[in-house]
Amino acid sequence: MAAPTIMRRVIYHPDYLKYNLGEGHPFSPVRVQMMLELLYAYGIEPELTEPELIKPDQLLSVHQAEYVDFVEKVSRQDAGEKAGIRFGLGTADNPIMPGMAEGARILAGGALLGAELLLSEQANKVLQLGGGFHHAHPALASGFCLYNDLALAIRKMTEQGWHVAYLDIDVHHGDGVQDIFYNDDHVMTISLHESGEYIFPGTGWLHELGQGMGRSLKLNIPLEPFTEGDSYLDVLEGVVEPALSWYRPDVLVVQAGADAHFSDPLADLLLTSHDYERIFKRILTFADQSCKGRVLFTLGGGYALTATARVWTILYLIFMGLDIPENVPTAWHKRWSEAIGRQLPQTLHDVAPFYDPIPRKAEIDSQNKELVQRLIDAVTADWL
Ligand SMILES: [Zn+2]
Repeated sequence: MAAPTIMRRVIYHPDYLKYNLGEGHPFSPVRVQMMLELLYAYGIEPELTEPELIKPDQLLSVHQAEYVDFVEKVSRQDAGEKAGIRFGLGTADNPIMPGMAEGARILAGGALLGAELLLSEQANKVLQLGGGFHHAHPALASGFCLYNDLALAIRKMTEQGWHVAYLDIDVHHGDGVQDIFYNDDHVMTISLHESGEYIFPGTGWLHELGQGMGRSLKLNIPLEPFTEGDSYLDVLEGVVEPALSWYRPDVLVVQAGADAHFSDPLADLLLTSHDYERIFKRILTFADQSCKGRVLFTLGGGYALTATARVWTILYLIFMGLDIPENVPTAWHKRWSEAIGRQLPQTLHDVAPFYDPIPRKAEIDSQNKELVQRLIDAVTADWL
């Protein structure tokens, strides 16, 4: 059987930068700006497809009208209201900022455009350079997320009868996406994250398996803190491979947060850029093996300014089938080391080794292995 022709699209709009939650907020638009400038510095001119700004009523397949109205109003700052705690707004994580609704809508438009390109077979691989708002709920902003671009794209595809597998490698549990499709047998969600015992949002336990028609289609691995790359790759293999082989989705949607990197300030996993290279390559082969290579990537978390742009540049290069250069261009290195006030590595990959093997490595590996076994045992009884 001949391999399908690869038709790639990269989606981006300069207005993505409008999703700005303020000076000092970790979810900074600078991260994508650094990544794009790094590509340009390498002499790569990415061909970018620009989405339209969607209208508020296009959010209603996922979000409640009352929530959307409130978000749109406070974002225009004509509501005379500075806090909306019942909607999760006006907090340190989700401050009310002018223009944030429009920024979130253009990003949601990007994910929806990705879904449309896949559905209409104009593309079989899409990379959206932004978004990944996996914590947003139907009527609740949470964890820096306002509108759930992932859920909107997934819904668009299930409405056309597709089965969607959602893989979340952000270090935080993909709670919003999971909850929205908890009863839905057209969506399998798989989230690998640091255990909620230690970090936000405190969910994503093994026993969260889905309900009703969605039973045994919601898979969670709450990883031990200090999990390293080899153990992570074992877990990915042990869960995603059997899940996709059995489920046979039409498409794989991936939230590619980079906050499982060892230098991330908000979490405690120990992935290196080399691990991310292995993970991204493996995800593309998962898509080849289970759904004719169809895949939609979004970005996501990733708060170490010294690492995130490099990890996502590696994602872009692998996605495009390009070689990974060794060094970063001097001009980019100088400009951004000065701008962020931290010395960036001279290389695209992390400088290795970054630490000695941690004392509990063997124990952590074996605990993660046990989690995989318990999860697979729990779901395979229903996978008939
Ligand atoms: Zn995250």
